[in-house]
Amino acid sequence: MSALATSTGSINLGQGFPDTDGPAGIARAAADAVLTGRGNQYPPGPGVPELRQAVAEHQRRFYGLDWDPDTEVLVTAGATEAIAAAMLALLEPGDEVIAFEPFYDSYAACIAMAGATRVPLTLRAPSFRPDLDELRSLITPRTRLLLVNTPHNPTGLVLHAEELAGIARLAVEHDLLVVTDEVYEHLAFSGGHHPIAALPGMRERTVSISSAGKTFSFTGWKVGWVTAAPALVSAVRTAKQYLTYVSAGPFQYAVAEALRLPDSYFDTLRADLRRKRDLLADGLAAAGFGVFTPEGTYFITTDITPLGEKDGLEFCRSLPARCGVVAIPNVVFYDDAEAGRPLVRFTFCKQDAVLEEAVARLQRL
Ligand SMILES: *Cc1c(COP(=O)(O)O)cnc(C)c1O
Repeated sequence: MSALATSTGSINLGQGFPDTDGPAGIARAAADAVLTGRGNQYPPGPGVPELRQAVAEHQRRFYGLDWDPDTEVLVTAGATEAIAAAMLALLEPGDEVIAFEPFYDSYAACIAMAGATRVPLTLRAPSFRPDLDELRSLITPRTRLLLVNTPHNPTGLVLHAEELAGIARLAVEHDLLVVTDEVYEHLAFSGGHHPIAALPGMRERTVSISSAGKTFSFTGWKVGWVTAAPALVSAVRTAKQYLTYVSAGPFQYAVAEALRLPDSYFDTLRADLRRKRDLLADGLAAAGFGVFTPEGTYFITTDITPLGEKDGLEFCRSLPARCGVVAIPNVVFYDDAEAGRPLVRFTFCKQDAVLEEAVARLQRL
C-alpha cells in the first residue's frame, strides 16, 4: 500500500510512520554518538549499559517496576526482533499461542517460524473488547503462551485493569507465559497504560516488549527492548544472538537520553496525537465511515458498510484512484476473513495539514 501511495501520489494513511521526526536534541545525540565513536563497533550483546540502565529507570518511573539492568533488560533490533526472538526462544513445535485477532502482521509469521500454532481470540466490533470466557475456553494442555498487545494495533483497544487482571489470573492458573507488546505504551489516551508484568504472579512469567520507534518518532532507528526475569531474558538473548546479534550501536546511546526526557515530552506527544485522532475521526465520520474511536495507538479502524461498501481489500485498492488516499484493509490482520472484511485502518500520525487534506479528499466518496 505504501508503494501504491507513492506510485499514485496519494496521501499515505496506511503504514504507521510519523511524517515529522522526533526531538532534534535526540537526533543530535545520535549524530554525536557516531561522530565521537560511541557504538560504531559492535555494542555488547545485551545492549549498551547506558540504555539498559535507562530502560530500567523508565520502567520504575512510569510503572513502579524494578528490573535489574544487567540481568533483566535486553536491547533488540526494534520490538520486531524482540517478538521474533521471544517466539523462537520460548516455543517448541506443536505449542499453541493464543493471540488477539486482528494480529500485528509479524506475530503469525514468528509463531509459524517457531513451529507453533496460533489460536486467535477474535476481538469483535464495535467494542473490540476481549471476551475472557472465550479466552478461558481456548486454553488447552498445549497452550504455552499468551501474546498480548496493548494498546492494540490495529483496533486501538487499550486493555483495562480488570481485563488485565483476568488475563493474569488465567496465566497463573494454567502456568502460561505472557509476551506483551507495549510499543504504544505512551499513546493510551485515557486511563493510562498498565503493564501486565506488574500484576500478582506475573513478574516471573511475563516478557514485556517495547521500543523507541513509536514513542520518539524515530521508527527507522529500530531500537527495542525486553524486560523480564533473568531466565527468560537469557533465553530470548540466546535466540537474538543468532538473529542480529547486535544492532544500532550509536542509536542506543540516543535512545537512552530519550527515555530520560521530562514528563512534558510524553504528555505533549499523547495530547498531540489525541487531537489528531479527533481531527481524523471527525473527518471520517463526516465522510460516512463507521468510526471506532481508538483509546490508544495512532490508528483508527473504520467500518465501510455505511458507505455501501463490503470488501475492505477492494475498497483500499480503489481508494487512491477514487480520491488520492491510501489506507490498510484490516482483513490482512485476520485468520477469520469474514470478521475483518468490512474494516479499514487509517493512521493519524501525520501533520495536521496532511490529515485535513486527506479528510477533504475523503468527503468526495
Ligand atoms: C510498529 C509495531 C511494532 C514494531 O516495532 P519496531 O520497534 O519498529 O520493530 C511492533 N508491534 C506493534 C503492535 C507495532 O505497531
